[in-house]
Amino acid sequence: MGKRSKSTRTPGAGRKKEVLDTVFTCLFCSQKAVSCKIDDATRIGYLSCGRCGQKFQCQTNPIMAAIDVYSEWIDATEEVNTAD
Ligand SMILES: [Zn+2]
Repeated sequence: MGKRSKSTRTPGAGRKKEVLDTVFTCLFCSQKAVSCKIDDATRIGYLSCGRCGQKFQCQTNPIMAAIDVYSEWIDATEEVNTAD
């Protein structure tokens, strides 16, 4: 806290389209090594950490993207952690 982040808005910069992130920070090892992908045929989302080997799968719908798989994983992980 207290850190002032530089404005990320640069008016006039030629940034047309943001590429959606598919690599995220791991909840277990805190490394940015979690990659997500969604199988278009089955709509199953896959997530795995390249550092600690955590894995997760979930059913997705057509409007979900990689970050949604990551969100599902966070929810599932929190459920496990608070499940008593
Ligand atoms: Zn990890």
